[in-house]
Amino acid sequence: MSGSLYIVATPIGNLGDISERAIEVLKQCDLIAAEDTRHSKTLLERFAIKTKVKAYHEHNEEQFTAQLIKKIVDGESIALISDAGTPLINDPGYKLVTAAHDNGIKVIPIPGPSAVITALSASGLPTSKFIFEGYLPSKAEARKKCLQLLVSESRTLIFYEAPHRIRESIQDMRDVFGSERRVTIARELTKQYEQIVRDSLSAVNEKLISEEIKIKGEFVVIVEGAQEISVTDAEVLRINQILSEKLPPKDAAGITSKITGKKKNEVYQMVLEASEK
Ligand code: SAM
Repeated sequence: MSGSLYIVATPIGNLGDISERAIEVLKQCDLIAAEDTRHSKTLLERFAIKTKVKAYHEHNEEQFTAQLIKKIVDGESIALISDAGTPLINDPGYKLVTAAHDNGIKVIPIPGPSAVITALSASGLPTSKFIFEGYLPSKAEARKKCLQLLVSESRTLIFYEAPHRIRESIQDMRDVFGSERRVTIARELTKQYEQIVRDSLSAVNEKLISEEIKIKGEFVVIVEGAQEISVTDAEVLRINQILSEKLPPKDAAGITSKITGKKKNEVYQMVLEASEK
């Protein structure tokens, strides 16, 4: 009989946040695959979990995935944990979970903390629709490009960020999204120095410079989505007409599309239909 693969969420700071079910699974399974065995030792010792632990991280997942799958197929149950939060959320495990599915193995999630949802729930920004972008690129140019692609995204945007890049990222967001866009910084969630600050991008930038928001620990950045503007067809045509007086038709349609949120070919179509009337 094949065993199962458990995906076990662990605390993102406060060890009291582990669930009873997570402790039970970690105690009962045959092997724990942990991102960093030394890091997980504190958690496992605190809850008297004596199960064997094996390192499973981005540098050895290629090598060990097949071994872990074989163990499960042979009847063992394995629990995957990461250093903090939910495995696979910006953490290793994707190869293992896909391989488990490919081999007909039951994958059982044990839900619990994740910084993305914890931060969103306390952000004071809209929660009904959101997108999670993980970490932004570390190089300035690539980061700006990535933010520019998100400029008209109307869903709440969530990013993970490292302390040594938080100031640069917030400055870039202010430059790209505008100073007035609201942002929430969620720092050191569930830990002693937890700090959650919601303000405009320019105000948060100032607070980072003055260190009213400390540049230490772990950060989640939540940015309000772009305001959805609703423009009538007549307004689209008018904007396009004004731009066409100075620009070639292709450029005018491109800029009209950026301003109004309409697709470029929709703008062309509208212009065409209007000229046939
Ligand atoms: N798997 C984790 C999860 O479910 O949230 C995320 C792992 S990712 C490698 C680590 C990043 O998550 C940190 O750089 C930070 O952006 C965010 N993070 C993790 N714990 C946090 C905490 N206690 N407070 C704020 N952000 C945290």
